[in-house]
Formats: sequence, C-alpha cells, structure tokens
Amino acid sequence: MANEKCKMINFLTGYNKVVKKKYLLIGIPLVLATIGFIAILASRNVVKAPSDTSNDSTSDTSADQEVVVDQVVYPIQLTIEQATAINAVVNKKHKLPENYVPTLTSVAGGKMREDAATELEKLLDAASAIGNKLVIISSYRSYLTQVSTYDGYVNQYGQAQADTFSARPGHSEHQTGLAVDLGNNDGSCALETCFGDTAGGVWLATNAPNYGFIIRYPEGKEAETGYQYEPWHIRYLGADTAKAVASSGKTFDQYMNVVAGEY
Ligand SMILES: [Zn+2]
Repeated sequence: MANEKCKMINFLTGYNKVVKKKYLLIGIPLVLATIGFIAILASRNVVKAPSDTSNDSTSDTSADQEVVVDQVVYPIQLTIEQATAINAVVNKKHKLPENYVPTLTSVAGGKMREDAATELEKLLDAASAIGNKLVIISSYRSYLTQVSTYDGYVNQYGQAQADTFSARPGHSEHQTGLAVDLGNNDGSCALETCFGDTAGGVWLATNAPNYGFIIRYPEGKEAETGYQYEPWHIRYLGADTAKAVASSGKTFDQYMNVVAGEY
C-alpha cells in the first residue's frame, strides 16, 4: 500500500512537472506577444498618418498627444486635370507638369487661353478708351522657355539670387496661359514696382477684377505669396472669383486655402 502511495505521489508530481512545463512553453510567448501588442497599440495613438491634403499644414496639439509633424513633401505636382482648372493654384510649392500645354489663342501680340484672351481684349480696350493704353510684355511661357530663362539666370547670378525674381520651371503661372505681364504703352516703369504708381498701373489694380483678373502678387504680401510685389502681373480667374479674391484682402493662395511661400 505504501508503495502504491509512493507511486501515486510520484505520478502526481511528475504530472505536475509536465503541466508546469506546458504552462511555461505556452505562457512565456503569450506574455511576450501581449507586451508587443500593447506596444503597437501605444505607438498607434501618437503616430498619425500624414495629412493627405496639401492645403493642411496644421498639427494636432491636443494636450495629451504628441505634436504630429506635417509630412507633406513639396513641391506637389498638379495633375493635368488640376492644371486645367480655371482656379488652378501654381506657386513655389505647387508646380505644373512638364508636359502641360494649355489650348492657346493669339491676343494683342501675345498668347493666352481663350477665356482669358477674350476678357484681356476687353480690358485693354477699356484702358485705351480712357487714355491709359496698356500693352502685353509677356504672356504664355512654355515649360521649355522657362527652363532656358531660369537656367540662364542661375548661370549668371547663382540659384539663390535667380530664385528671387525668376520662377523655376513648372512654377511659373505664365505656363497656365492665364497670366500676363502688362506695361504702359510708353514703356515707363516696365516690370518695375513703380508701374503700380503710374496712371496705367493704378487703373489696372482698380479695374482688373471687373474683367476677371487679379494682381497676383500684391504689395505687402511677399511672405505669403513667395514673390515680390508685381503690379504688372495679372492672373485670370473669371469675374466672380477675381472680385471675391480682390475684396477678401487675401492672396489667391490663401483664398484657395493652398500652401504658398518660398520653395
Ligand atoms: Zn508675370
């Protein structure tokens, strides 16, 4: 009987050892897996996916969350469809595709998109009618033209200097066919800020929105647009939008809620 008891005890003890081993074999990996799972969950709470909109540069600053850094990489290239939109925003952070060529028509010695050309003719006629004859200095510029223009300036002045007055290829609004540089017929203050103080420049700033154009790079908005004041550069948007932008006091980029500024 004693032997039987011992056998039973030995059997039970052995059994317990087996059970303990099984618990260890299953338990350790289970604990590790649980810790790993918790770690993944914790990291997901603080690392958010970057914003998918190019217009949103804000960060989540809730007190109990880490600041999420905007991970949008500029410049962003517009699709052909976006580039074709009448309110396409082209700036130093948003560029046109290399192969984007709008459908163009001739106007007053230049080339523009037809919708813009039709209204530009009316604008030029109205300016002439009151003795402020304006002429086109530069209208549509192709991507390739912009390449040679920009590269020429970079070779001559270096990139940092060239970037202050010449758009990099794809970043020039002139490639949209909706932008034009105007000047006085007598050539005074051509492509100079003093154009804004001439009778023609004053008339243009006041009346451009009635024909669907805005002064794209206004005075005092250099940091916002990324461009110096250019009273001669107007951009076609259609009368409704142009009037709304002009009366808003915002830059076109701000009005469209699109990030702008330097490269
Ligand atoms: Zn221009």
